Amino acid sequence: MKIILFGPPGAGKGTQAAILEDTYSIKQISTGDMLRAEISAGTDLGKQVKDTMDRGDLVSDDMIVEIIAHRIEQSDCANGFILDGFPRTVPQAEALDAMFAEKDMTLDHVIEIKVDESILLDRIKARAVETDCERADDNADVLKKRLEAYHKLTAPVLPYYEGKNMLETVDGMGSIDEVKDAIAALLSNGVKKAS
Ligand code: AMP
Repeated sequence: MKIILFGPPGAGKGTQAAILEDTYSIKQISTGDMLRAEISAGTDLGKQVKDTMDRGDLVSDDMIVEIIAHRIEQSDCANGFILDGFPRTVPQAEALDAMFAEKDMTLDHVIEIKVDESILLDRIKARAVETDCERADDNADVLKKRLEAYHKLTAPVLPYYEGKNMLETVDGMGSIDEVKDAIAALLSNGVKKAS
């Protein structure tokens, strides 16, 4: 099963992706986590993206598409995966389509976790406390920038999948369990076929 989880920063994509990973034995692929791991490891890629991420801007499409193309070919993705934080622009979504076509893969679900943006700052602040400020971009100023990037570049990905009749939405304002159940209900309805 191959799933895209979609939503603004703080919507709960990472939490739900981790639950899906455990429940369905499919791999969570978080581009943000992968980039943060590169930064922690001090790799060239990490050095290249650190300032961009700290500012709350998106890294280049080419870079992230290459990372994903390589990642989904790994053996731990053979049973399927959840994309958490990708695609984040229309060109990334188009590149993913091309990648899937080339690899003869099909996308099963595109799920938007819809939240009232007024709660995001509180959630991001809570995450900063929980993770002991592990992420340089989990603060009010950078969140503003990340939300701007979301509205300008990422929100247009929704009509892209809507146009393919693939977009499904869950209410992300409930508890973790409620959102989990709403996603499970969508998945049990079977595959959403692209048109
Ligand atoms: P996240 O952990 O998903 O909130 O991502 C943290 C940061 O990583 C983002 O603010 C971007 O700088 C970068 N990033 C993650 N995924 C992508 C992507 N698909 N395209 C561009 N930049 C990304």
